[in-house]
Amino acid sequence: MARTYKFKAEINKLLNLMINSLYSHKDIFLRELISNASDAIDKLKFKSIQDKSLIEDDPEFKIKIIPDKKNKTLTISDNGIGMDIDDIVKSLGTIAHSDTEEFLKILQNKNEVNIDLIGQFGVGFYSVFMVAKKVEVISRKAGLPENKAVRWESAGDGKFKVEEISKKSRGTDVIIYLNEEDEKYLEEFEIANIVKKYSDFIEYPIVLVKEDGKEEILNSMKAIWLKDKTEIKEDEYKEFYRHITHDIVGEPLKVIHFKVEGITEFSALLFIPSKAPFNIFFKDYKIGPALYVKKVQIMENCDELLPPYLRFVKGVVQCDDLPLNISRETLQINRQIQVIRKNIINKVLTTLKEMKENEFEKYEKFYNEFRKVLKEGIHLDFENNQKIAELLLFESTKTKKGEFTDLENYIKNMKSDQKEIYYITGNSREEIENSPYLEIFKEKDIEVLFMTDEIDDFIFTGFSYKEKPFKNILKGDISIDKESSENKDKAEKEYKDLLTYIKNTLRKEVEDVKFSNRLKDSPCCLVVGEFAPDPQTEKILKSIGQEIPEFKKTLELNPSHKLIEKMNNLYKNKEFDKLNEYINLLYDQALILEGEKPKNPSEFVKKFSKLLAEI
Ligand code: ADP
Repeated sequence: MARTYKFKAEINKLLNLMINSLYSHKDIFLRELISNASDAIDKLKFKSIQDKSLIEDDPEFKIKIIPDKKNKTLTISDNGIGMDIDDIVKSLGTIAHSDTEEFLKILQNKNEVNIDLIGQFGVGFYSVFMVAKKVEVISRKAGLPENKAVRWESAGDGKFKVEEISKKSRGTDVIIYLNEEDEKYLEEFEIANIVKKYSDFIEYPIVLVKEDGKEEILNSMKAIWLKDKTEIKEDEYKEFYRHITHDIVGEPLKVIHFKVEGITEFSALLFIPSKAPFNIFFKDYKIGPALYVKKVQIMENCDELLPPYLRFVKGVVQCDDLPLNISRETLQINRQIQVIRKNIINKVLTTLKEMKENEFEKYEKFYNEFRKVLKEGIHLDFENNQKIAELLLFESTKTKKGEFTDLENYIKNMKSDQKEIYYITGNSREEIENSPYLEIFKEKDIEVLFMTDEIDDFIFTGFSYKEKPFKNILKGDISIDKESSENKDKAEKEYKDLLTYIKNTLRKEVEDVKFSNRLKDSPCCLVVGEFAPDPQTEKILKSIGQEIPEFKKTLELNPSHKLIEKMNNLYKNKEFDKLNEYINLLYDQALILEGEKPKNPSEFVKKFSKLLAEI
């Protein structure tokens, strides 16, 4: 008996979006169905390693394309793993891809759905409704008897029907009832062209069943990653990239195709995409290339082969020395896998370095898309973090907006007695480049790197490049040179009592009050301890509701500022009311410099205006 189900709301939305935005790329539907058929065969091939009986009835894997001009149907038929009733209800209609909801949210915020975006998500089975007025899927799962097959049917109108039927052989037939305007997909040459263009490298024969019953294999079936580089055209790489990423028009920024020979032998075809996928920071983002052993796909994403900070890399790795029955658990302790992983990391990092040296414009594109991911490696990969550091680009007090320096250059430009690599964190260059914290560095002509990614302070706290520690100039003590330290010491003696008085007045607000050696024109600033979060991180943590301990800050005063002398006079003359007003105003100014509000804005304005009137 047939049962009718509704498509899950998200799937419905996606289906409609796809149909409305991809009409100029209709051919894609065939690529997607062939891809699903090939995946289904991959899965069965993998399973049959353990259980040969699953494929005994029909041992020759193939994908058939059967145009029927009389009935105006196009059928894509495979002898892969198939689906039972449960599978089909879940896979084709009721369970959405885990990222669908997030993806739809992103789409909602755009006025226009472009192909780039949909491509990032992957179009899949539902793209068939671009050309179909009705679709039937008839499937029998490998291992189940003839009468346990299932028939699924939908017009793409929000619902689908499912019933149990009989099917002679295992696998899946997708029968497409073509729209009138899409009947060109019944033409043999049209089908042959599309298959050649998009699916040539599919490893199973894609067979066109002609009107006269004759069969013709349309694809060359050679695994592209095993081919010699010189045999492969640029376009073939592109199509293969689109095949594995399900992208429609996207292109790889860089192709990394290599073979390693020796004790562990393997072939790898890896891609650096030109755009970051929308879900690269999501928890369930799938990391790692597909892993093949003797042309059997063992895993679609082998995360043992890539560290998370290189998760933008996509591709395929084949190693025939591995046992076919290798499992997720045994992968982790497999020595060969560890060797391959090391090789891949090296190869990717070297490729990036070469790009940086020889194709800088391309490298900038890469860097703008993936730097936040790459930087995670500074923190996580002790073995390679120096190499990763060499790949980083920074704007600084010495670069123009939009131009970069790197650490090699920074070190070259360091002053002879400079021991640390100075950086300042903030939301944007505009926000930080006029920061009072930079005054003294500018005066002494010391370069300071601008760090504007949220994770920067977290990544660079405690990190050293070529034994030079990174130092956030917003945090902790700074010792730039002898002269400024002497100034500071002198002031500490001269204004000792004033300092104690200020400390007492502000004891609830600040950890300490000190004279500073980092200020030139500004009267004061607030500084956090070396290992406390910088103001930017603090804001982010607060905004996501994270409870963070209250790190009290240190108020630093500029010993050379006229205000200090003035306050000292008030102190000596015992004009404490006025002095208190000054102190509170001073503290409020320091808050404003940090991008915070004064403690009590209306009070601040009142006092400030009063002071102005007195001038
Ligand atoms: P994706 O292939 O990206 O998972 P699709 O929407 O194309 O997304 O397919 C959804 C699911 O339906 C697949 O993951 C697979 O489980 C199942 N499926 C689709 N086509 C076939 C097929 N020809 N044989 C077996 N299962 C299939």
